Amino acid sequence: MRPPDNAGNPDDAFRLPPLIQSDSLTVSRLYKGKADPQAVLGGLLGKPFLDYRARWERARSQTFVPPFPLHVDYEALGLCNYRCPMCPMSAMAGESDDARNPKASLAPGAADAADPSAQSGPAVLPTGGSLPLSKIRELLDEGAAKGQAAMGFGGLWEPLLLSGLPDLVAYGREKGLVDAMVNTNGSLLTSALSRDLIEAGLTRLMVSLDALSPKTYSRMRPGGELRQVEGNIMAFLSERERKKSQTPLLRVSFLVTSLNESELPGFIGRWEGVADFLSIQRYGHYEGRTHKAMFPKKPHGEAPGGLCAQPFKRLLVRHQGDLLPCCDLSGMAMPMGNVFRTGIQEVWEGTAMSRLRESLRGKGTLTSVCRSCQSKYQDVESDNDAT
Ligand code: SF4
Repeated sequence: MRPPDNAGNPDDAFRLPPLIQSDSLTVSRLYKGKADPQAVLGGLLGKPFLDYRARWERARSQTFVPPFPLHVDYEALGLCNYRCPMCPMSAMAGESDDARNPKASLAPGAADAADPSAQSGPAVLPTGGSLPLSKIRELLDEGAAKGQAAMGFGGLWEPLLLSGLPDLVAYGREKGLVDAMVNTNGSLLTSALSRDLIEAGLTRLMVSLDALSPKTYSRMRPGGELRQVEGNIMAFLSERERKKSQTPLLRVSFLVTSLNESELPGFIGRWEGVADFLSIQRYGHYEGRTHKAMFPKKPHGEAPGGLCAQPFKRLLVRHQGDLLPCCDLSGMAMPMGNVFRTGIQEVWEGTAMSRLRESLRGKGTLTSVCRSCQSKYQDVESDNDAT
């Protein structure tokens, strides 16, 4: 695809085709003429998938609370092999502006003067603990029996560090879960692992790239090599083609910051027609986890939807067992229970979740966590809903 006419002009970086120009946190690109990954997966996976998405949409409207979360994310390890400046894992190691100096506020465009990517330290950041695979299987058993339809592996850790990942995906799919997704930096995606994930029944592979050039990649994603990750992605696509499989769908993403915003048009040109979907994401503020110098010069506007509906649809299990009501980073400050002390069902039906939902319905005071959350408004095509 030809890059947009404004390629190379950072001031016009957001003057893009209509689907991209949305104020949404995340937008998807066309796949075989369809802009909606759900429609694509519905065509491939049939009625069970369509039924689950119908329940998802009802929950999204906040008029329906399913008896059990439709989607559960599992953070099996507190580990990552990168230390990206925008990630809370790095912030926990004291690398963010907020962590260093809560009152620090760098002037726009000061990125080069205070380069947040110029960090050093261990390649792997242990935050301690892991969720035993036997516990995840137990949770999958419970979920499958109670109407859970989707499972996710990703978020604050690098799931490809988990050697048993394909087995977990296969286990959940065999139990009847229809949607299985992995968010990864792609650095460990060997051809053999691609094959195993395809055979296991993964439905969505989401690779965070955030750069067009190796130089920018090394600043956005310290710890990795862009060309190696791109090679892994192309090998994955070859493996999928060789196996004549249409899944997992491949999404590549680009988090827009001051470090990479000039490369966005070129990134779209590079990946459109190669990946199945592109996701353009907004850099948000997270208390104690922000590099102010990374805010792009031309930030996206506020997301246009109503109040967040994540607690109507999903939960996230952290590696130490904490149950979060959403997959937003802000949710880390709002654990609703712990799977080693309380069951998912108990938390889902509990008073704390009910109060949280009511507040998001506008029938109570929003928690301070939700008030300061950048995802407190639903997106028309958010990451959680579209891909
Ligand atoms: S508003 Fe933010 S913190 Fe609150 S439940 Fe939604 S995503 Fe989580």
